[in-house]
Amino acid sequence: MSEVAEQKQSKKLKKAEFIPQKPTDVKELQKHLELFGYLNPNDAAFGAEQNRPPQPEEAALESLKTSFVEPGKMDEATVTALKKYQEFHGLDVTGKLDKETLAELDQKRCGMPDLAEFSTHGNKWSTNSLTYGFDNYTTDNGLTQSKIHEAIAQAFAMWAAETPLSFRRINNSASADIRIKFVSGTHGDGSAFDGQGGVLAHAYYPPPNSGSLAGDAHFDGDESWTINIPTGNGKVDLVTVAAHEFGHSLGLRHSNVNGSLMFPTYPGPKRYLHADDIAGIRTIYGGYAIENASWIHGTSIQVEFPERLDRITRAGFYTYLYGKANTTNWFHFALPTPVIKDQKRLKVVCAILRFRTFSAKAVVNHVHIYDGYTKIAAHNNLNLSGDNWFKKFGVAHKPSVHWGMGISIGVSFSSGTLNERRMDFVSAGCDLIN
Ligand SMILES: [Zn+2]
Ligand SMILES: [Zn+2]
Repeated sequence: MSEVAEQKQSKKLKKAEFIPQKPTDVKELQKHLELFGYLNPNDAAFGAEQNRPPQPEEAALESLKTSFVEPGKMDEATVTALKKYQEFHGLDVTGKLDKETLAELDQKRCGMPDLAEFSTHGNKWSTNSLTYGFDNYTTDNGLTQSKIHEAIAQAFAMWAAETPLSFRRINNSASADIRIKFVSGTHGDGSAFDGQGGVLAHAYYPPPNSGSLAGDAHFDGDESWTINIPTGNGKVDLVTVAAHEFGHSLGLRHSNVNGSLMFPTYPGPKRYLHADDIAGIRTIYGGYAIENASWIHGTSIQVEFPERLDRITRAGFYTYLYGKANTTNWFHFALPTPVIKDQKRLKVVCAILRFRTFSAKAVVNHVHIYDGYTKIAAHNNLNLSGDNWFKKFGVAHKPSVHWGMGISIGVSFSSGTLNERRMDFVSAGCDLIN
């Protein structure tokens, strides 16, 4: 058999390997499909109460129903729902519990439903200046309050960089728009968490949905939360999950675009938005009106540890350099920044970098943003390599700028050839609003 034919054959076999469907498995599947919006729970409830006379709304719904859900049976409604699940999650639409589907069902994920037809509507906040606060904290994996503050600000900053929204932390969480807490099991909102694994977190859409819970984000206290990368076995990146949940807090539903932050399953650490997330949030809030912007060429970069470089060349208007193997370094841009326009102090939305690395052996891990010597934002553990010709790094609270912007970039160089450890800094800039 030729290699190609062999591959085809093994693919076929793999696809044919359906797992025997025990009634308990199917019950679990139905529970999952109901929980995440694929199977209408009213069908199941109605099926269980067939002796009750139908209510007027149910009579109207009756005509839409094709079948009832029978618990533990792969009936038509369950197969239809499973097919919808497979389609949303980018799997082969088999309508069966095959290996790939079982693996996907087993993934860590967000607790919000994927399909909107059975869930509350996304909405938008009526103000662009939102506040957030912490009802409590986690102490998992050495997390301190200040580390959590920085991590959560990083998550909000991702959305701030693309919209007119700003996010300011306040101490009195009871009066915050978005309340954050870590809770286990049943926690008073009718959506109990499920222990470690499975559902990691959930959040509430903007007002008027869900009354006083609107916008709030709950994190499962039974998970092992971390901000370290790599996270370590079984641990979950708080920044990634928080950024996803805040997408819901702002009115976004799940996306079926694999690779987007709003995809329902947890992909491992992913601390930046996908084009699909940006398009989604801009559909709701639009972009921001740039009042002013500043740019500087890559030749002006300062090197913190020149002795850790094999070579550095300033060519024309950019800088290219080669880090020594297994070193870290910091590079700094001081941006000449307009601070007042039309007698008003400008506010900073984001820093923007244009750079590239020549392999994953040279990685931008940290981008810290300063006003004068005050750090106003920290983007950590980014793991950015390759071409990054317009990468934005937001500042969650969009503060007034007083002394001028500084951008510090933390880069790791691992072992590899000289060329693999090359990176180019082309320019750095920032966007300012009124
Ligand atoms: Zn979600
Ligand atoms: Zn909750």
